[in-house]
Amino acid sequence: HAPNPPYPDTAPASEELLRRAREVIPGGVNSPVRAYGSVGGTPRFMVRGEGPWMWDADGRRYVDLVCSWGPMILGHAHPDVARAVRQAAADGFSFGTPSRREVLLAEEIVRRVPSLEQVRLVNSGTEATMSAIRLARGVTGRSAVVKFAGCYHGHVDALLASAGSGVATFGLPDSPGVPASAAGETIVLPYNDLAAVEQAFAERGQQIAAVITEAAPGNMGVVPPAPGFTEGLRRITAEHGALLVSDEVMTGFRASTAGWLGLEGVPASGAPDLFTFGKVMGGGFPAAAFGGRAEVMAMLAPEGPVYQAGTLSGNPVASAAGLATLQACTPQVYARLEEVADALTTAVRDSFGRHGIAHRVQRVGSMFSVFFREGEVRDYDDAREQDAQRFGRFFHAMLRRGVHLPPSCYEVWFVSAAHGDDAVETTVRAIEESAAEIA
Ligand code: PLP
Repeated sequence: HAPNPPYPDTAPASEELLRRAREVIPGGVNSPVRAYGSVGGTPRFMVRGEGPWMWDADGRRYVDLVCSWGPMILGHAHPDVARAVRQAAADGFSFGTPSRREVLLAEEIVRRVPSLEQVRLVNSGTEATMSAIRLARGVTGRSAVVKFAGCYHGHVDALLASAGSGVATFGLPDSPGVPASAAGETIVLPYNDLAAVEQAFAERGQQIAAVITEAAPGNMGVVPPAPGFTEGLRRITAEHGALLVSDEVMTGFRASTAGWLGLEGVPASGAPDLFTFGKVMGGGFPAAAFGGRAEVMAMLAPEGPVYQAGTLSGNPVASAAGLATLQACTPQVYARLEEVADALTTAVRDSFGRHGIAHRVQRVGSMFSVFFREGEVRDYDDAREQDAQRFGRFFHAMLRRGVHLPPSCYEVWFVSAAHGDDAVETTVRAIEESAAEIA
């Protein structure tokens, strides 16, 4: 029998699992943000999910606002997706040959995204961006890459780079284990700053293979591209013979049926050369993709010389989950995502306003995040100027009330179309009470 909130701060079953996990898994987690490092406390070990709800090992129920960091756009264990997965699994798990379901998934992705002609399926967003960068380098015969501070593209060596001092310097490794040579090929620029991009190209245009950007960044909190920014990137890259890689791993099939491109429209200066996708297109299973124009994709092995491969790439069970998820992403689903985002952002603005808590809500489509500061956030420097400690208190106040937020103030609050009135009302009430508590 599930206990009701408010829940105690201690969670005995999760604490015991964490103790065991730490013996055999570094930090007890398989991806660092799950460890609650920036909010403190014991990460809750989940045992089951259904619709908008998750249950932890102590039997406590939470409204899930992480949604597996994006994939669970239909909520947990959606019946259509579960059925497709069972069917695919019954037909065998992996063949290492081309198979039918991967074709259906690729067709569905290409059909949805304007200008996209071909995709190669991979297993994670990291693999997608890593492969897109290799392809861009192979196509152009150049090695430098421009990325923006605060954009995350997975843990690819070349993309784990921090800005050096001053604009247009080559990057510094962001982690031990990333060689200076890998980060040194990366130019890290401030987001939304076209002048910095112009300058970098003026100085090193002949060396730059690609600019990679989150289509609409969600990894420093939500920071929409300023009007004309994406278009400017397209124009500048085209002028210098570099490729534009639009990372839609987070926005893809979430911001709209076609991701961010579907929402903003194809820039007047042209579509990006390459896209990366992940999260929603795998329906909660390991599937991701990169793609673009057929002429660029033809450079990949076996047609072309740029090598890229994977034992489980296009896995039939993951492809079935992704396809069933995309097929269930109807206009009603996107309308519901908007409604849920409306209700939650309104609640944050109202409650935080009422209790005098400095805040800024930013949103692209149904993707939104809450900054614990006032004023527009245009780049990573802005995003870092917020009250992370206060967020930590808010996080735990919400957790006690049965709402599981992303455990970091830099993350999107992910909603699903399964977030019904019950889940929304629970969350709205928790926001009001938690705001009062931390005021
Ligand atoms: N690109 C973006 C925009 C992301 O948000 C992420 C993950 O959060 C990635 C790439 C990496 O994807 P994965 O975690 O599947 O490797």
